[in-house]
Amino acid sequence: MPTVSVGTGGAQTSAPSTTIHEVQAALSKASGTKLVMLGTGAGPNPTVPGRTRYMTSHVMVSNGSAYVLDCGLGVTNQFARTGVPFTAVRSIFITHHHPDHNIEYGPFILLGWVQDQNVRVSAAIVQHPPVQPALAYRFDFHDRSIVFSGDTAPIEAVARLAEGADILVHEALYVPALGAYVRDRIAKGSPIRFDAYMAHMEVDHSPVEDVGRIANAAGVQTLVLSHLTPAIDGIQDETWRHAAAKQFKGKIVVAGFNGAVIRNVNRYRKSISNRWSERVHKPNEALVRLRERYD
Ligand SMILES: [Zn+2]
Ligand SMILES: [Zn+2]
Repeated sequence: MPTVSVGTGGAQTSAPSTTIHEVQAALSKASGTKLVMLGTGAGPNPTVPGRTRYMTSHVMVSNGSAYVLDCGLGVTNQFARTGVPFTAVRSIFITHHHPDHNIEYGPFILLGWVQDQNVRVSAAIVQHPPVQPALAYRFDFHDRSIVFSGDTAPIEAVARLAEGADILVHEALYVPALGAYVRDRIAKGSPIRFDAYMAHMEVDHSPVEDVGRIANAAGVQTLVLSHLTPAIDGIQDETWRHAAAKQFKGKIVVAGFNGAVIRNVNRYRKSISNRWSERVHKPNEALVRLRERYD
């Protein structure tokens, strides 16, 4: 079973230090390739109420080398928290030039394509208009293969790239909650045009049900739902999972927040759901309304 280590830190609450130690311990004792989800929320706006996920970034650690994919705001600090030395960074990959994916690559050197003794990297063009190119990446390590969709509408190119992979990290959009969230903002005076906004999102991003279909077509073992839209905390993990599971029968992980280290996926789920219930029961009117409508 692929091991997924997740070490995301809350932007609004600091993770307990034990959690950081868990992340560091999991990496320092790692015998195989590890995937660390550093930032799992979609979009560039860090001020969304109730948002604790950082912008999109990941690191894969294999044989003492680190490969960073996407550099949303916070990647430097999040990377530092893992305890992996910056000198271990071999390459940085950017899926596309949107600020939630590239705004913080300044601290790193952009190296582009690599093939070294650790990893073979391949990519596919995906669909994220008007940004061109927008890329999905596949990393084949000696013991794991990990694929990232980047931002994209649901597209067969990702299923082909991910064929037989251990882990597919795919962006996911939950349309009913996004609709409710946008209507809520409009009601509060935000100058958004509902139809145009939703049309844009559906051309550029992947409804979670379609993500399940793509994971199924690819035949991956584990699907990690990340770059979650809307990037608010009011959607239960089970809601995401249930939608993806309509067409995908493998393991599904909803990328979390606030630090969780998982040795196996089942323990991970339990750990996240415990943390989740601590968080969502904080009073927040907008989120409570969302939960009442869509959970
Ligand atoms: Zn994005
Ligand atoms: Zn984007």
